[in-house]
Amino acid sequence: MLNIVLFGPPGAGKGTQSAKLIKKYGLVHLSTGDIFRANIKGGTPLGNLAKSYIDKGQLVPDEVTIKMLEAECVRNPKAKGFIFDGFPRTRAQAKALDQFLKTRATAITVMLALEVAEGELRKRLMLRGKESGRVDDQDPKVIQKRIDVYNAETMPVKDYYSAQGKYKGVKGIGTIEAIFNALCKIIDNGRTTKTVKKAASKKVVSVAKKKKTTAPKSGAAKKTKKVPAKRTSNKTAAAKKSKTVKKVSAKPVAKNKIAVKAAKPKTSAKKAAAKKIKPAGRKGR
Ligand code: AMP
Repeated sequence: MLNIVLFGPPGAGKGTQSAKLIKKYGLVHLSTGDIFRANIKGGTPLGNLAKSYIDKGQLVPDEVTIKMLEAECVRNPKAKGFIFDGFPRTRAQAKALDQFLKTRATAITVMLALEVAEGELRKRLMLRGKESGRVDDQDPKVIQKRIDVYNAETMPVKDYYSAQGKYKGVKGIGTIEAIFNALCKIIDNGRTTKTVKKAASKKVVSVAKKKKTTAPKSGAAKKTKKVPAKRTSNKTAAAKKSKTVKKVSAKPVAKNKIAVKAAKPKTSAKKAAAKKIKPAGRKGR
């Protein structure tokens, strides 16, 4: 799966670039801001709650946002990948997203960040407010609050993904097409590196397999030598026991037989269970 976090301050152009990226890579676009606005429009309880924060330029609480985002992911089980736009906006959200994706046997591929200076952001947001009528883009105080919240609460998310080696910054100034090409270049380069790495690891695995089939033979031989030795000693011990037991009663011997019989299906059941688990695990990956 190709899972992209599209990162950047309000007004950086995340929405514009997302639209182009989902088209090119066939991804599902998940914009928490868009989902909140749709809920506000629909007058849902979630919308009413979100509005009280959005209008002030504050972040909607993590718990609410994370739940909503996860529900949206679950709603798209056939997605080839996601573009997370405007999410995660806090470290807690980033951690929750990592954990959630892990349960679905996937992870964030890359964080693409649009870097734009604050002065330019203010200009863009005011213009967007006039054109789109977005309330939170019309009041300079709310705009400033959103930029401040971004610097204080959202910027640490950059460090979070940098620590994983997934942060890739792109200058968010220039033509839409030039920025888009820069983003695509990062995605495509990442994909090539991944395929090369996969091919290399396959080679390593096959070499390791070859080694295993030749080198550990002596080890295996040692094992087979040891096992019969133990078994015979066990057998003699068991024989000694059965002799004494036989004197007292035949029942424990019969019980032993039942135990042995019962034990056999257990091992085959274990093997069958292991067989069942393996393909499912592979499938998930
Ligand atoms: P956006 O459209 O991404 O600029 O988001 C608009 C507003 O929705 C933000 O200013 C926040 O109040 C709220 N919001 C969007 N995404 C999140 C998020 N991940 N966490 C908390 N609040 C969010």
